[in-house]
Amino acid sequence: MHQVKRSEAMPFYEFACPDGHRNERLMSMSAAEREIDCPDCGSRAQRVVSVIGSLPSQPGISAAMDNAARSAHEPAVVNSIPRAGNARPTPVSRNPLHSHLPKP
Ligand SMILES: [Zn+2]
Repeated sequence: MHQVKRSEAMPFYEFACPDGHRNERLMSMSAAEREIDCPDCGSRAQRVVSVIGSLPSQPGISAAMDNAARSAHEPAVVNSIPRAGNARPTPVSRNPLHSHLPKP
């Protein structure tokens, strides 16, 4: 009994035999064969290079890629430096009795 791990990628591979039959086989990457017997005529069918990766790029994707490329040498600039720490001054007591207290 041949078992395939669930985590293993199972892409479709397309095979073309000399007679022009096309067959898709779902097989694990590690078990992918270069040739199979054509189920239609029995001759050797060669694996065809997948078309995945040559799909035309979609507008949204290319725009996002342009943005990412531009940000490498044209980063969005901030005009002011954000204030560091607490902007409020520390409250000071005006009571003369407090001046005798130890200072932090
Ligand atoms: Zn065939």
